[in-house]
Amino acid sequence: MEKTNNFGKVYLIGAGPGDPGLLTLRAHAILEKADVVVYDRLVSPAILGMCNSKAQLVDVGKMPTHHKVKQSEINKLLVKFACEMPGATIARLKGGDPFVFGRGGEEALELVAAGVEFEVVPGVTSAIAVPAYAGIPVSHRGIATSFHIITGHEKAESGDSFSLDFETLAKCQGTLIFLMGIGNMDFIARRLMECGKDPKTPLAFIEKGTTPFQRTVMATLETAGETIARENVTAPAITIMGGVVELGKSLAWKKSLPLSGKRLVVTRAAKQSSGISSRLSALGAEVIETPMIETRAVEGTFDWATLANFDILAFTSTNGVESFFKQLFAAGFDVRVLAGKKIASVGKITEKKLLEYGIRCDYVPEDHTGEGLGLLLQKEVHEESRILLLQGNLADDTLLKLLPNATRWVVYETLPVAELPEWKREAVESADAVVFASTSAVENFVKMTDARPRSSFCIGRMTEAAANKHGFETVTSDETTMDSLVKKIVEYYA
Ligand code: SAH
Repeated sequence: MEKTNNFGKVYLIGAGPGDPGLLTLRAHAILEKADVVVYDRLVSPAILGMCNSKAQLVDVGKMPTHHKVKQSEINKLLVKFACEMPGATIARLKGGDPFVFGRGGEEALELVAAGVEFEVVPGVTSAIAVPAYAGIPVSHRGIATSFHIITGHEKAESGDSFSLDFETLAKCQGTLIFLMGIGNMDFIARRLMECGKDPKTPLAFIEKGTTPFQRTVMATLETAGETIARENVTAPAITIMGGVVELGKSLAWKKSLPLSGKRLVVTRAAKQSSGISSRLSALGAEVIETPMIETRAVEGTFDWATLANFDILAFTSTNGVESFFKQLFAAGFDVRVLAGKKIASVGKITEKKLLEYGIRCDYVPEDHTGEGLGLLLQKEVHEESRILLLQGNLADDTLLKLLPNATRWVVYETLPVAELPEWKREAVESADAVVFASTSAVENFVKMTDARPRSSFCIGRMTEAAANKHGFETVTSDETTMDSLVKKIVEYYA
């Protein structure tokens, strides 16, 4: 399609049914670069945590007024973002698949009408994945040769008369899967029986499937209504009917993962936490990454004219690189002002970051430490060389001590995160436990939120003492390693 305008582009993205691991690679890539993310109620907090940290997150499942945003308003909102933000990436993130009872088609039609470019990123639909997580295959040789996905919500949408063709549905030999409609299920079950469907047909309600709160409740067609009432089955839930439901009794695999059903808050900065987070997820937990600190570029404090006086620029972190260039560009310069200078980096990761800016390093120590960098520069560069260190406010004096003639610019600051965004606050409040790796993480956590998950998992005795002081029940790893902590967590829930 020829591009006829410079609007932003909208991606209608399926987020899957809950488990962040069911997000597609394509969806992940778009969320990482999105400028705006317009999301629904059913999208899991762990997925929102994967969005570009600078993206504007808009919750249309529930706005601050606690009113659901009307579909027509969502449509308009997408067009508005596209028109007002040329070149932007606008992600419209929906539960499951955007085109399976997701009203994605309506949004797409509105975008077409407004001349806005869009793409669809299919998602894993709850209709199939939620039964799978309960150990129920939607088709099975000898039991079901077709499956049918039906909305149970028709009544509320279209007035009193139910537009479902119960005569036909009752005759279907395949598996029947109802989305929405838990509230109508008593009526649906009775109509299906009136139309001749066997009252003994096995049936399962699967609530909050693929999330830590997944629950399966079994019934039959004739006990559907009373079971929902007795067990208090609530949305989001799907209803699956047919012989395949029996297989769930032997195949329910998810329940057996050691941390299944647990929502854990990991309080480390995203970069550091991915190791422990992925290990906990692999064991079945849902992990909410909640960094307690954030870094911010220090703005407008440098005398850029003096940059010309330095022969060597030394970077000790990727944050330092990003903050330096952010400010250099903001001041109206570009990389040409670095022509002729030598560049030093503390290690490989920082070196790689510099390469993103088109800059190769001249000096990188073997051991990737500040001390190593200091010793290397002592050895390699002329005593008279003028060195500029680009560091954060928490950097220690190792380099300055080794290179006493160097100048230091503090290009970024590390600050405690002041408050949690709304979506994350709710996730933290409903968590089973929080993982602390330092006393400062404990202190920042209690400052930032009133949520007090029942348990805390701590690395080290100092961290444990801090958590105890604030009334957390504590479980502490034997050794101060992540491996040891993960082992402890598994033992605790065994
Ligand atoms: N587009 C979505 C469906 C949207 S309709 C998809 O493809 O999955 C919303 C309904 O989907 C809910 O009422 C419920 O029936 C079902 N649903 C979505 N996520 C679910 C989950 N995690 N567990 C159980 N049902 C879910």
